[in-house]
Amino acid sequence: MVEAALVPNSGGLSAIVPVFIIALAMLCMGWINRNFDYDCANCGRRFSLSFWQAALSPHMMGREYVRCPDCGRRGWAAAVRR
Ligand SMILES: [Zn+2]
Repeated sequence: MVEAALVPNSGGLSAIVPVFIIALAMLCMGWINRNFDYDCANCGRRFSLSFWQAALSPHMMGREYVRCPDCGRRGWAAAVRR
């Protein structure tokens, strides 16, 4: 009886957790996007990214692999505090 009552509850929770994590990651990305610009690795020009550009491009250790809007070359642009 107790187990049967708990199953729908835990099922609902396990469906919500990934959504919650994604929402948290999106909030985090939004914050980074608002507070950081990027320095082009090729020409040094500073530029900002749209939310989806920043969210969808590969990144590691404070660098984002993106195309520079100025020189048009792809590279690891360093994130810098705005
Ligand atoms: Zn550039």
